[in-house]
Amino acid sequence: MKPLAVNPETEKKLFFHNYARLPIAVTHGEGVWLVGDDGTRYLDMIAGIGVNALGYGDRRLVEAISTQAAKLIHASNLFMMQPQFELAEKLLALSGLSKVFFANSGTEAIEAAIKMARKWAGRLGDTNKNEVLSLSNCFHGRTYGAMSLTAKPKYSGGFEPLLTGTGMIAFNDITDLEEKVSEKTAAVFIEVIQGEGGIHKISQPFIDRLKELREQYNFLIVADEIQAGCGRSGKFFSYSLLQADPDMVCLAKPLGGGLPLSAVIGNEKVADVLEYGNHGTTFGGNPVACAAGIAMIQAIEEDKLTEHAEEIGRFMHEELQKLAEKHPQILEIRQYGLMIGITVDKEAKGYVVKALQKQLLINATSINVIRLLPPLVISREEAQLCITLLDEILTEERAEKNG
Ligand SMILES: *Cc1c(COP(=O)(O)O)cnc(C)c1O
Repeated sequence: MKPLAVNPETEKKLFFHNYARLPIAVTHGEGVWLVGDDGTRYLDMIAGIGVNALGYGDRRLVEAISTQAAKLIHASNLFMMQPQFELAEKLLALSGLSKVFFANSGTEAIEAAIKMARKWAGRLGDTNKNEVLSLSNCFHGRTYGAMSLTAKPKYSGGFEPLLTGTGMIAFNDITDLEEKVSEKTAAVFIEVIQGEGGIHKISQPFIDRLKELREQYNFLIVADEIQAGCGRSGKFFSYSLLQADPDMVCLAKPLGGGLPLSAVIGNEKVADVLEYGNHGTTFGGNPVACAAGIAMIQAIEEDKLTEHAEEIGRFMHEELQKLAEKHPQILEIRQYGLMIGITVDKEAKGYVVKALQKQLLINATSINVIRLLPPLVISREEAQLCITLLDEILTEERAEKNG
């Protein structure tokens, strides 16, 4: 039998049309290089949407996964399992918080946090205290609760009715913050650095006011660290950049070293909010994913990858600034560790296609933002190569326009 052709035509036949996939099939990877089925090597500045912090083929990760897979792949949360315990202990030590819940994806961590926030607020005795707020331009996920917090037509259009008791505060707008929060507020969900929104950081005054209002109205601050967490921002948790002091933290994307794993970590306030049977998931905290998570965090610590992200990020910022001076297509550069957003004067999609032709993988978000989320292990030379290729693309584009 002929092997199935992995190409855009077959893709159209087999799948629902919810993904705009790049027209390449990939088979393996090495470091920051992703390899196509024809042997083409791509410099990967997307890293599985911020998942592959250690790049591809990290020996420690592969070994941890194989060893655990040979022992026990799944048993369910009817049992206690060593890898879950170890990873939980590690996350509590890193955050200084009190309790952990494991799930499988970012959106599930957000759902769990919404449920815990409402249960926590309900127990204070006011039945109206159930409002869950988020910030404009945010992204928290695709399931109903998370999507309702991410209420933008692009994500939620056609799926109404959404969850009630949600609301949105204008990003970094202190006046709007003061208007929106009240006694009815159970929780405010924040991304300290908005990822899908185009790499925008919350301001220090906004966070400071949010913390004051938390004192006044008694609500929870939930930090969505799904994209910015685990070292990418130059800190293990991006909330440390602003001393946001969250009550709950959601982690996912890189947490399982590429396997599906997410976590909600909470402080003393919410430590007892869940009772037996209130919440759960069959796969959550899968032992193989947790073993990968332990290896991933150990590698981040061993290789000092948070510091490395900070250093390489700063280098890329300087080099991109030089490109911006040369190329008027670049309007703005925002960089926090290895989360980089480049605002351009047109739809960013065109650059994704041009970059692909140069074996460079970049991502477009928020229409006119090029987003770079390279593996944290990227070297200075590889970062420089990315800059050189972007320079070529921007130069060629101007030559075409003028020619
Ligand atoms: C990706 C992402 C999510 C959703 O995670 P999934 O694993 O895709 O469900 C939520 N919040 C942020 C900030 C993200 O980047």
